[in-house]
Amino acid sequence: MATEDDYTAQPFVPDRGGLPALRAAAAECRGCPLHRAATQTVFGAGKASARVMLVGEQPGDQEDRQGKPFVGPAGHLLDRALAEAGLDPADAYVTNAVKHFKFTRAEPRKRRIHKAPTLRETAACGPWPAAELDRVEPEPIVVLGATAGKALLGSSFRATQVRGTAVLRAEDREAAYRGLLSDLKVAARALA
Ligand code: SF4
Repeated sequence: MATEDDYTAQPFVPDRGGLPALRAAAAECRGCPLHRAATQTVFGAGKASARVMLVGEQPGDQEDRQGKPFVGPAGHLLDRALAEAGLDPADAYVTNAVKHFKFTRAEPRKRRIHKAPTLRETAACGPWPAAELDRVEPEPIVVLGATAGKALLGSSFRATQVRGTAVLRAEDREAAYRGLLSDLKVAARALA
């Protein structure tokens, strides 16, 4: 019987092909149970020629419904920060470390509340951001949050080690926004 130890996206990740092939394959991923309750896979968005990659934690409610990363309030905040940092959105590839929305239901009206993926689920999904990195080959990578950091940099990653973390769920959004902006400015200087 399959256990958590068996969770992995690896068999679903094609060795060849560009981002469209990856996106199509990710839509069929059954590497862990998160696909069951989610509406759809939310794969990254942007061009293979993008120079900077922004990696969030996992899709939220709006992303799950629309099938795109960084839409709704998250997208507005990111657009604002990109513009303020002087980064061209066309130069940015945006994605999440985990490709399916995880949530619990809460009253009233059984709203869907974001729930952090487990380490196993995050690790299972790791082959997807790794494949995106391989195809895009960005110069700077901006990691937005602990889950994304762990997926890309290993389980010893701590969100407090970087600024701009979990900006969209931070209690002090303005401080988190300034952190994100600061990181994007570093990325912009790296590209200059
Ligand atoms: Fe596959 Fe990742 Fe979705 Fe799990 S969360 S089913 S590993 S795409």
